[in-house]
Amino acid sequence: MKEISCKLLVVGAGPGGYVSAIRAGQLGIDTVIVEAKKPGGTCLTIGCIPSKALIHAAEEFDIVRRAASNGNGLLGISAASPAIDLAKTVAWKDGIVGRLTSGVSGLLKKARVKTVHGWARFRDGKTVEVETETGIQVIRAETIVIATGSVPVELPSLPFGGAVISSTEALSLKKVPGSLAVVGAGYIGLELGIAYAKLGSKVTVVEATDRILPLYDSELAKPVAKRLAALGVEVLLGAKAQGLAGAGDLTIAGADGTERRLAAEQILVAVGRKPAVEGWGLEELDLARAGAFIRIDDQCRTSMRGIFAIGDVTGEPMLAHRAMAQGEMVAEIVAGHKRSWDKRCIPAICFTDPEVVSAGLSPDEAKATGRELKIGLFPFSANGRAMTRHGEDGFVRVVARADNHVVLGIQAVGQGVSELAAAFGMAIEMGARLEDIAGTIHAHPTQGEAFQEAALKALGQALHI
Ligand code: FAD
Ligand code: NAD
Repeated sequence: MKEISCKLLVVGAGPGGYVSAIRAGQLGIDTVIVEAKKPGGTCLTIGCIPSKALIHAAEEFDIVRRAASNGNGLLGISAASPAIDLAKTVAWKDGIVGRLTSGVSGLLKKARVKTVHGWARFRDGKTVEVETETGIQVIRAETIVIATGSVPVELPSLPFGGAVISSTEALSLKKVPGSLAVVGAGYIGLELGIAYAKLGSKVTVVEATDRILPLYDSELAKPVAKRLAALGVEVLLGAKAQGLAGAGDLTIAGADGTERRLAAEQILVAVGRKPAVEGWGLEELDLARAGAFIRIDDQCRTSMRGIFAIGDVTGEPMLAHRAMAQGEMVAEIVAGHKRSWDKRCIPAICFTDPEVVSAGLSPDEAKATGRELKIGLFPFSANGRAMTRHGEDGFVRVVARADNHVVLGIQAVGQGVSELAAAFGMAIEMGARLEDIAGTIHAHPTQGEAFQEAALKALGQALHI
C-alpha cells in the first residue's frame, strides 16, 4: 500500500481527537485521523451519550411506574402496568449513537480531514502504520497528536467476562437483570446503578471508601445517598469486592472485617479508568510519563518534539469536554496561533438522581488557599420551580473571596441541575463577582434563580429565605 504524508496526524477519534482534526482542517492544515473503532470514541459510542440515553429511559420508566403504583398519586396521574423492553431501549440508544458517529464522520469530511480506519502503531516519532482492512497503511506526519483515550480498570480478582461486566456491556444488556452488584460508587457505578434500580433491578453498591461519590464534597453527595435509599439500593461502604465464590456469588470484605456473599445476576465493575497506552508502540517513543498517563505541558506538548497528547491519555479529569478543549487548542497551536491552557475551571457533572455539578473550587479547596471566604447556599426547597418538578432536594452553593467577592467555585445538587453547568462555568471563566450574579435578572420560575439567590445569600441579602 502507498505511503501517505500529512502535516498533522491524529491518533484516535474520540472527542479529543475528532475536535482537534476538525479544527485543524478548518484552519487549512492537511490532516489525517486514524480510528480503530467508530468516530466519536468512548464518549459517543460507549460512554457519555449512551449512558445518558439509558439514564433518561430509566427515569421515564420510573415516573410511569410510580404513577401506576399510585405510590404518590399526588400529581393525579394513573397508568396501568407499565413494562420496559430493554432490547428496544438499547436499539433506540444505538440509533442515537449511529446518528452521532455518522455526524462526526460528516464533519471530518466537511473539514477535509482524511479518515483512515484501523489500528495505528508508531514506528517512530514521525511514522505510524495502520492495520486497515486492505493492508498496512504507512502515514508520515510532521506533527502527531496522541488521543488514544482510556479503558476501564479491571480488578485482578474480578476479570471482565461472564457475569462480570464493564460499563460497555452494561449499556447494551438485552434484559434488565433481576439483581445487579455494582463495584465502585463513583461516576459510572452510581449513574448506571441508579438507572438499573429504576428499571427494576435489585441493586447493591460496594464502595471501598467510607462514602459515595468521594470525588465530590460530602454535602453534595447527601441528596444522592437519600435517593439511593428511596430507590431501595443497598450501599455497602468501606467494603471491598474480593472475587467470585461458589455459584458465582460476589465475595465482599466489609468495613468491620466480616465477609459477605452476594448473589447477583450481573456484577458491574466501575472502579475507574486508565489511560490507553498499550498496543500502539509507546515503547518506540521516548515520552515522559506522569504516573500511568502521558506527561504534557500547558500546550499539550509531550516530551518529544512534534508530538502532542490530549484527552484521557493525559490525565484527570477524564472528561469529554476537557479532551475537546485540549483538541481545539492543539489544532490552533499547530496552525501557528499563540495558545496555552488558560481555563479557570473544567465543570464536572455526575448524572445521578439528583444530578451533581461542580465548577471551580469546593469550599474545602477554597479554604486551603488560606483566603477569607463568603459562601452562600440556597436550597431548592425554597425554589418554586423545583417544587413544581418534585425536586426540592438539593441546593446551589457559591464560594467567593471575601475581599473582592470574585467567585471561586459553584456547586449544585438537584434534579436537572446539569443544565446550570454552563452558567456556572461562564461566571467563573469571566471572573464574575457575587454582585454580577446577584445583579443579573434570572428568569422566573426557574431553578437558575437558586444561583442568583445563593449569590445574594453570600452577600447577606437573600430575598427568598
Ligand atoms: P476516547 O473517547 O477514549 O477516544 C479514544 C479513541 O481512540 C477511541 O475511539 C479508540 O478506539 C481510539 N484509539 C485508541 N488507540 C488507537 C490506535 N492505536 N489506533 C486507532 N485508534 C485508536 N465524560 C463526560 O465529560 N461526561 C459524561 O457524561 C461522561 N460519561 C461517561 C460514561 C461512561 C460510561 C464512560 C466510560 C465515560 C464517560 N465519560 C464522560 C468520559 C468520556 O467518555 C471521556 O473523557 C472521553 O471520551 C475522552 O475522550 P478522548 O478523546 O480522550 O478518548
Ligand atoms: P470513578 O473514579 O468515578 O469511581 C470509582 C469508584 O470506585 C471510587 O469511588 C473508588 O473509591 C471505588 N473503588 C475503587 N476500587 C474499589 C474496589 N476494589 N472495591 C470497591 N470500590 C472501589 O470511576 P468510574 O466510575 O469507573 O468512572 C471512570 C471515569 O470515567 C471517571 O473518573 C470520569 O472521568 C469518567 N466518567 C465521567 C462521567 C461524567 O462526567 N458524568 C460519567 C461516567 C464516567
